[in-house]
Parts: sequence; C-alpha cells; structure tokens
Amino acid sequence: MTKFTGYVCSLCGRVYAPDEVTYTCPIDGGNLDVSLDYDALRRLSPEQIIQHQENSLWRYLPLLPVEHPGGEHTPFRAAGWTPLFRTDRLANELGIKSLWIKDESRNPTASFKDRASAVVVARAREIGAEVVTTASTGNAGAALAGMAAAIGHKAVIFAPKTAPPAKIAQLLVFGARVILVNGNYDAAFDLTIEAAQEFGWYCRNTGYNPFTAEGKKTAAFELWEKILKGELRHTPENPLQIFVSVGDGNIISGIHKGFRDLLSAGHLEVMPRIFGVQSEGSAAVANAFFAGTEKITPVQAATLADSISVDLPRDGVRAIRAARDTGGAYLTVPDGAILTAIAVLGSLGIFAEPAGATAYAGLVKAVNSGMVNGESTTVVINTGSGLKDIRAAMQAVPEAPVIEPSLSEVKKLL
Ligand SMILES: *Cc1c(COP(=O)(O)O)cnc(C)c1O
Ligand SMILES: [Zn+2]
Repeated sequence: MTKFTGYVCSLCGRVYAPDEVTYTCPIDGGNLDVSLDYDALRRLSPEQIIQHQENSLWRYLPLLPVEHPGGEHTPFRAAGWTPLFRTDRLANELGIKSLWIKDESRNPTASFKDRASAVVVARAREIGAEVVTTASTGNAGAALAGMAAAIGHKAVIFAPKTAPPAKIAQLLVFGARVILVNGNYDAAFDLTIEAAQEFGWYCRNTGYNPFTAEGKKTAAFELWEKILKGELRHTPENPLQIFVSVGDGNIISGIHKGFRDLLSAGHLEVMPRIFGVQSEGSAAVANAFFAGTEKITPVQAATLADSISVDLPRDGVRAIRAARDTGGAYLTVPDGAILTAIAVLGSLGIFAEPAGATAYAGLVKAVNSGMVNGESTTVVINTGSGLKDIRAAMQAVPEAPVIEPSLSEVKKLL
C-alpha cells in the first residue's frame, strides 16, 4: 500500500509530491505536513490499523509514511509504546478527577525523541541515505545516534558544547561522530543544515525534516488506542486534556498531527485539548500565542530546561495551532516551578529531566488559573529521563547528610 501521498505546506498550502521536496517549503520555508491516503485509511477498521503483535510505535504502520524498516530484535524496534501511569494521589491534590502520566523516559534512549528518530532512520534507509545528521541539545542526537546504531547507519551529531554530560556520553557510546559547537542550539542548527547540504547527509533537524513529526504523532495513536479500549475517557463534553512541554514545537505539532490524521481517516470524532508549556526563559511560542499571532519573534533563551531552550522555535506556527485549534492553550512556568515538578514526579517514582517535568508544572498553573476541566481526564507527558541531567535534578531536592558510620549518628539525624 502506498500510504504516503505527498506534502502540504503549513504556511501557503502548496501541495508537493513525495519526491518533489525533502525538507521545508521551497517557496516560503514553511514546515511541511506529510499527507497520507486518508480514503484508504477510512476503509480500514481500527483493528486492521493496529498491529497488535508490535509493542512499539510500529504498531501503527498503516498510519506511517514509511514501510516496515526491519531491524528485528534491536532497540530500533522498541521506540514508543510507553507506559501510562494513573496517579490518583496527584489528581486529588490538584482537585481534578483523573490524571495520567505518559512516561517517555521509557524509550530506548530515554526520551520522546526516539519516536522521531526511528521514523527518520527508516526514511533514510528508504531513500538510500547512508549518513544521517542532526543538531541537538542532546536528546534528538542521542535518539538519532541510538536508532542509527541499532540498524547500522552512520550518524553525525552537532550539539552545543554546553549540553549535559550524560547526553554527550550517550552520543559517544552509540558511536556517532560527535561535533560539539562553541555556540548555542540555534547555531548548531544552522551549521547542520549547511553541512548536510555540503556532504549529502540526510538531515533530521527538528522542525525542518517533515518525518520527525510523523514519528512523534505515534504518541497520539497510543492515547487513541487507550480511548478505544475505554481506559482513557474522551467525550465531546469532557475531552481529554494533554499537557506537553514545548521548545521547537515539534512534539506538540506531532501529537496534533496524529490526532488530525485520525480525524481525517474517520477514526476520531473530537479533538483532545492540547496544552503547550514553556519555560518563562524560553517562551517564543507562548508569546506569539498570547499575542494572538502566528508570527514568532525570537528570544534569548535562558532556562535550566536545556531540551526546551530555544531562541527561534523551528516549528512555532504548527505548535501555536496545536493549542489554538483544539481549545487548548499555552502556559509559561519559571525554572523554580520546573524544579518543584521534578520532585513531585519523583515522589511517584518517575524521574523526569527538567523539560519533562515542565509539562506537570504547566498543569499545576493551569489548574490554579481555572483553565482545566476537572471532570475531564488529563494526560501529562514526561518527555525525558532525569538521568539525562542529574545536575538539574540535584537542585530539585535537598542534599543528603554525610555521617560517621555509627548508630548514634543515625539517631541524631532522625
Ligand atoms: C525535545 C524535547 C522537548 C521539546 O520538544 P520540541 O519539539 O522541541 O518542542 C521536550 N522535552 C524533552 C525531554 C525533549 O528532548
Ligand atoms: Zn509554503
């Protein structure tokens, strides 16, 4: 089945054939939406769409614009299908009926980015690209390096030299060619595009390569499957509410795309409400949302949540629409609230990196300002593992005391 029918520019609406363009709209640089054969998908039942033997994002192969990638028995095949934990304790504290955390730290390289990288590497294989490259604050690179390693592709990763050491360690251990840039993420981003053009590499850059959102949309399919099974409640009166952190805006756009695909294919009737959360120190998308415009003005990003520290979001327009067109909203939170959220999620046994905990900090703010329907079910997405950035984690919790090894010292402490 040729499911992949082409691209539509998110800015000008021009339509392109699959082999006509590779990255963004040649006319205006707009992000491209991948189109599928929605009529064919309409004729399939959910039972025919869901490949139940796959416990990964490949479960939704009929909804993906790539063919089956192979890579049997490798971490490549394990991206996605992350657990969803119900927490009545936090729901009660917040005064809402039902709260779930979707834990993306459980992906093969421990962040949401594996979803995108798995699909991009599958695409690279299809178009015969031998080398894949990306700019990354760490997670996208680790995911690309890991997914590429798993099926024997070469990866070149450009990261700011300030990326957390654990993320750089991951890149190196996965055997990628790692190049640290004396500059921020935005500088690494532009350099990667130049290098990809010069050397003929396939560029995964977030908000540039249209296939990243195609991988990220699979998180929406996993929630949809839970809705179908009656595990998550989603009705026209009380639609599901989803909270996700936003940097470039590609995760939130991807999740929105997943639900839009389901709607276009006749497998969903009502959109869930999607809420984007940014750090106050890196809030270019939220600023535009609040101003009621799709024009993104860059900021000088400064936040301890490195994965969402972005001057110029590369998928800002679609990120705004994800909230605006679903009855959601944007929230900004200070770094202090992000640290608090790390500790709160930690108290459930979930270890989030700052960008992952940001979504929960946003939910707290949204509840306090009356933006949340307490009757609706809410899902907070933890996008990455706390082990990626233990320096930030240590700021979220009190220091452990050091004592002489004697029981009396223990008694003194307790
Ligand atoms: C990349 C990333 C984000 C933000 O995703 P965008 O597509 O840049 O908005 C959030 N959390 C983590 C852990 C990430 O790695
Ligand atoms: Zn265009």
